Amino acid sequence: MLHPRPHDTSESDFIVEFRNVTCGYTGAAALSSVSLAVYRGDFVGLVGPSGAGKTTLLRTILGSVDIYAGEVLVDGKPVRSSRPLAGYVPQLETIDWNFPVTVEQIVLMGQANEGWFPWHKKEVRESAYSIMERLGIAHLGKRQIRALSGGQQQRAFLGRALLSSPRLLLLDEPTSGVDIKTRDDILHLLDELNHEGVTVLMTTHEINAVAAHLPWVICINKEIIAEGPPSEVYTPEILGRTYGAEMTVVHHEGMTLVAETPHQIGRSLRHHQKVGTQT
Ligand code: ADP
Repeated sequence: MLHPRPHDTSESDFIVEFRNVTCGYTGAAALSSVSLAVYRGDFVGLVGPSGAGKTTLLRTILGSVDIYAGEVLVDGKPVRSSRPLAGYVPQLETIDWNFPVTVEQIVLMGQANEGWFPWHKKEVRESAYSIMERLGIAHLGKRQIRALSGGQQQRAFLGRALLSSPRLLLLDEPTSGVDIKTRDDILHLLDELNHEGVTVLMTTHEINAVAAHLPWVICINKEIIAEGPPSEVYTPEILGRTYGAEMTVVHHEGMTLVAETPHQIGRSLRHHQKVGTQT
């Protein structure tokens, strides 16, 4: 279990705050009337069905979504008035893999070049390599990113996000498309960063394997449905409203497990066969 959300908190402890926010694209709202606060030091999972607005919520914090109503504050300031202080790890699926680029180049993208020189300072390159060491990808520095596994690609983008030493890390499905061992490694690394003071906000569609292990979960479907520790928000009622589908929640030896209530396809087919043989 990761560390719990802090309790004795005040507004100055918010690193992100949404105040009744409606936002979206070209005039169409993707999220409506969203109010939420992310505290410094939080480790939060955003769950909800495809199209629920999870990516939009992360991108709103980065200032790249139109805000139609309400206000988004990052570190106490309106989102557009300051340089984004967040590191962002996009969904791997959204990346154009035809673009030839090495792991080292991806990580170095995390630091804007300063001044007139089209190359990176020695210190920046050194810190890129020390981050890559930590992520276990330093030996892959000169390799083309498109030739690597999903887990290695994920780490390269995590390296890019970490290069500017962000206090806030936003990750879009960081465990999607990786094997179980890599998923656990990534979560362990995020937990370590969180213990070092980095606030983590990540989306995930893995409600059992990922979100159930986080201290705080926000259920979203175009609006906030509920938030709290998984043991409190994983109820058939809340999950049903989030996913628009019947969900069964099982408590077993201190674990909370969620299962979709299966449609009985097999049985109805057998029923048809039986009917067929009778006629
Ligand atoms: P999720 O991450 O939960 O799958 P998204 O935030 O990607 O959901 O999408 C929420 C809604 O916003 C969807 O209806 C989607 O079609 C729409 N949307 C997402 N990105 C764009 C965009 N760049 N332009 C227009 N509509 C978009």
